[in-house]
Amino acid sequence: MKNFIIFILIIITMNASDLKPWGSKIEKLSQEEKNIVINKGTERPFSGKYTNEKSRGIYTCKICDAPLYDSSDKFDSGSGWPSFDDAIEGAIKRVPDSDGRRVEIVCANCGAHLGHVFEGEGFTSKNTRHCVNSLSLNLKKKPDIKDENLSYAYFAGGCFWGVEYYLEKLNGVREVISGFMGGHVKNPSYYDVVRSNTGHLEAVEVIYDKNKISYEEIAKTFFEIHDPTQTNGQGPDIGEQYLSAVFVNNQQEREIASKLIAKLEANGYKVATKIVEKSEFYPADESHQNYYGKKGSTPYCHGYIKRF
Ligand SMILES: [Zn+2]
Repeated sequence: MKNFIIFILIIITMNASDLKPWGSKIEKLSQEEKNIVINKGTERPFSGKYTNEKSRGIYTCKICDAPLYDSSDKFDSGSGWPSFDDAIEGAIKRVPDSDGRRVEIVCANCGAHLGHVFEGEGFTSKNTRHCVNSLSLNLKKKPDIKDENLSYAYFAGGCFWGVEYYLEKLNGVREVISGFMGGHVKNPSYYDVVRSNTGHLEAVEVIYDKNKISYEEIAKTFFEIHDPTQTNGQGPDIGEQYLSAVFVNNQQEREIASKLIAKLEANGYKVATKIVEKSEFYPADESHQNYYGKKGSTPYCHGYIKRF
């Protein structure tokens, strides 16, 4: 019995220390969310907002933003909770539930309670059902736009909130998404990029109608809403993830970006912006999208300066 009590104490202490670095995020949770992610509760079936969600994207941890599930692994189990037949590699930890029967699943990064996992039910070929509370998750949506007039352009100019804010104002730009590009870590969370050496830059994906605005006009604006001469970050944001870059899709975009940089240099600017081949773009968590729009404020580190 004593060993059992010590075992339980160790489990309790482990959970508490696992969640400790996330104190400020935990404080922001509603009581309902705390009941699920901290106190391991279960939301009522069919009550969660992601039960019937069909959008493409990545489901992340409510507390630490770690990517947990890809929407391509979500299926309709009819159980009343979001169900996935697979998880992002290494994202989920399985632990014996205190009821002695079920297997609990928690976020491998921060220990947040997610739900339970069941095997052998035969729902899909993977024969696994991660039964997850909607309140344990956020969804980073990927836009599902099928319009052949739309093109995609990618820029990094410091804090993505400000770059998104200004590029979204351009006529012909359909949407700007804040995210990460250029590093070696798949599906990075905001905290991965802040804390570790992922190689990623804060970047934006600009989705635009090429019949209404050209790549050159967007790229020109990009050089005028951030300081392309700063070598160590952007404004007060110092660090590798805030460096300036144009990520190009093809030779044509490379030539346009080079031409604009040459013009700036002719105008006396010592340009630090790098031209880099486009790599996979990872959208940031929903809380980083349209940041200033939601807050009703304006950027602290970006502004328009005519440079051409
Ligand atoms: Zn987590």
